[in-house]
Amino acid sequence: MLNIAFIAHDRKKEEIVNFVIAYEHVFHGHKLYSTGTTGLRIMEQTQLDIHRFMSGPLGGDQQIGALVAKNEMDLIIFLRDPLMAQPHEPDIIALLRLCDVQGIPVATNIATAEILVKALDRGDFMWRELVHKYKPGVEE
Ligand code: PGA
Repeated sequence: MLNIAFIAHDRKKEEIVNFVIAYEHVFHGHKLYSTGTTGLRIMEQTQLDIHRFMSGPLGGDQQIGALVAKNEMDLIIFLRDPLMAQPHEPDIIALLRLCDVQGIPVATNIATAEILVKALDRGDFMWRELVHKYKPGVEE
C-alpha cells in the first residue's frame, strides 16, 4: 500500500476527476491524500476514500510537502494550471522542490500522470515499499 496525493488547480479539477475515475481500480487499496477541494470533487465522483488536507492556497500543498519531507509520500499527481498565476506559487515550488530532494515521482500534467499510473498498476513503485520498511529515522 502506497501513499498517493492528488492536487489540481481549479481549471484542472475536471481533468483530475476524470483521470481518477478512469484509474479508480488502480488507486483502490492505496492510502490516498489530497488538497481540500480536489479531494472533495474526487470523492463525490468515485468510491475512493481520501484524506483531505487544507485547500492549496490555505496551506494544503505544504501539508503534503511535510509528508514528502519525511519521505512518506510515494507518488503525487499534481495537475497544475500553467496559464494562471496562483497566490500560493511559493508553496507549489516548495512542494516540487521537496519531491526532487527525495526523488518522489510527481506528474504535473495528464500525459505524465497516465504513464505513472500505468507504472503503478504494473508494480513499478514497489521499491517505495522498501523505503517505508527500511527507512532510517527521519529527523536528521
Ligand atoms: P484545492 O487546492 O484542491 O483545495 O483546490 C488545490 C489548489 O488549488 O492549489
